[in-house]
Amino acid sequence: MDDPESHGEVNVKFLQPYQARKSYICPNCNRGISPGTSHYVVVPVHAPDLRRHWHRGCWDGRRTRTPRR
Ligand SMILES: [Zn+2]
Repeated sequence: MDDPESHGEVNVKFLQPYQARKSYICPNCNRGISPGTSHYVVVPVHAPDLRRHWHRGCWDGRRTRTPRR
């Protein structure tokens, strides 16, 4: 998947339902985020063009997908 943290530091902004006016594709699961759904906007500090919209669950759970040994 497209891991924004591979670009270094990221800014994560939480969008409330009323702020989510468009639909987006979550890069983690490739499913849509419907308008009116609270979610995260993830912006790499050094690559702001690569901002992505993530489901809350996908962002919160991304680290557990590849457990470290
Ligand atoms: Zn997702």
